[in-house]
Amino acid sequence: MADQQFDLIVIGSGPGGYVAAIRASQLGMKTAIVERESLGGICLNWGCIPTKALLRSAEVLHLAKTASAYGLKVDKADFDLDGVVKRSRGVAAQLSGGVKHLMKKNKITVIEGDARLEKGTNAPDVIVKDAKGKDTTYKAKHVLLATGARARAIPQAGLEPDGKLVWTYREAMVPDVMPKRLLVIGSGAIGIEFASFYNELGSEVTVVEAVDRILPAEDKEIAAFAHKSFEKQGMTIKTAAQVKGLKKGEDSVTAEVSVGGKTEKIEVDRVILAIGIVANSEGLGLEKLGVKLDRTHVVVDGFGRTGVKGLYAIGDLTGGPWLAHKASHEGVICVEKIAGAIDEAHPFDNWNVPGCTYSHPQVASVGLTEEEAKKTGKKLNVGKFPFIGNGKAIALGEPEGLVKTIFDAETGELLGAHMVGAEVTELIQGYVIAREGELTEEDLMHTIFPHPTLSEMMHEAVLASEGRAMHI
Ligand SMILES: Cc1cc2nc3c(=O)[nH]c(=O)nc-3n(C[C@H](O)[C@H](O)[C@H](O)COP(=O)(O)OP(=O)(O)OC[C@H]3O[C@@H](n4cnc5c(N)ncnc54)[C@H](O)[C@@H]3O)c2cc1C
Repeated sequence: MADQQFDLIVIGSGPGGYVAAIRASQLGMKTAIVERESLGGICLNWGCIPTKALLRSAEVLHLAKTASAYGLKVDKADFDLDGVVKRSRGVAAQLSGGVKHLMKKNKITVIEGDARLEKGTNAPDVIVKDAKGKDTTYKAKHVLLATGARARAIPQAGLEPDGKLVWTYREAMVPDVMPKRLLVIGSGAIGIEFASFYNELGSEVTVVEAVDRILPAEDKEIAAFAHKSFEKQGMTIKTAAQVKGLKKGEDSVTAEVSVGGKTEKIEVDRVILAIGIVANSEGLGLEKLGVKLDRTHVVVDGFGRTGVKGLYAIGDLTGGPWLAHKASHEGVICVEKIAGAIDEAHPFDNWNVPGCTYSHPQVASVGLTEEEAKKTGKKLNVGKFPFIGNGKAIALGEPEGLVKTIFDAETGELLGAHMVGAEVTELIQGYVIAREGELTEEDLMHTIFPHPTLSEMMHEAVLASEGRAMHI
């Protein structure tokens, strides 16, 4: 029997779900959120945040190792793996605790347990199984699915995690040993971030990527720049290469890798699988409700509507880009639409979602790559500016990097912006605002950028698109 009636029940408390719940509460809805694991979802507990904490340790280690270049003396830069992991887990726990506080502050009911749906009246009923196995039914006017995704495995190709020798991001984040030799399969943001972390800590890292370049979603030139830089730091990268199988030993794995028609054997201590993700759409009762799926992802419109009365979905569950800020933004749009606080003119727009990779060097982008922009048939103005021409980059000791902008030559619309180098993940937002605000090339040229900052390169790249860069 139904125990409680809500305006909105959100299932999953990742950055999609918990942000949607807060917005719903702000809009006056009586809101509940169901979570079967930890508040904050993958992002805060096993994704964005703990990886950034690990990468910060790697960055500090790098600075300590290169201290003499800054006129400093550091006797022996070293690390304690347990300490590095402990810090990362502490940061994750702090933020998950922060979500608990936010739920309380916004008077959102937190229900612990595993949720599934059954046909209801206004919206599907939500049945939650608690830790003791007891089912409780909750009713709401609207139900929002934000159940996220998990690491993809391909068992038929032998690419399956075992938690010991073959890791997913979960084990890679809390390593019990420091692998001397590490194979990372897949070179998207997750694979490259782990490759960067372990490489800095001294592992011999090999990255294998099936397509012809790393960071396949990024602009080709930027990806090539990052590729070179990673190789300079000692990584081995094999592109257009396929792992045909993993043979496990006692404490090692031998991978058979097919490259250029030849098969190589690579022996490593541990493997990280970073070959994509699959949505958590099973076990929710979606088939019986007639929810449309595209492979594992729930199909929705620009406001998160599934087509089933009262049922919505957002975040990783609905497909790429698989990013926390995409999930949060979708959550806000969806809830505002439910509350009637938004019109049909503002559905979710994938092209304004920035993408960031927090490796060393960092990579960040928004909008079309140059290859994609060329396919539009528009005449393009492409501007580029290298880090070596920027005073702040030199002062920081970070002279390697590139900023690139792509404009529609006729209208001045910023079609895309791409960067590689220090702190670019903090810079990209400037171009995101430019795109959202529909600023033109000329508007950006007339904008004043503070000196000395890395952001001046964003100005210079725009100027370069008209052959007017100043410092190169
Ligand atoms: C290693 C790694 C690094 C990443 N780094 C970044 C980054 O730097 N920046 C970025 O933007 N993105 C990053 N991501 C991606 C980001 O974590 C996801 O895009 C984001 O978490 C998606 O949010 P979500 O709310 O859709 O789902 P999730 O965060 O996955 O949350 C879903 C929640 O739903 C719960 N749940 C699932 N099913 C049920 C059920 N039946 N009942 C109750 N609860 C349920 C789960 O326990 C989970 O807590 C990273 C991911 C990984 C794995």
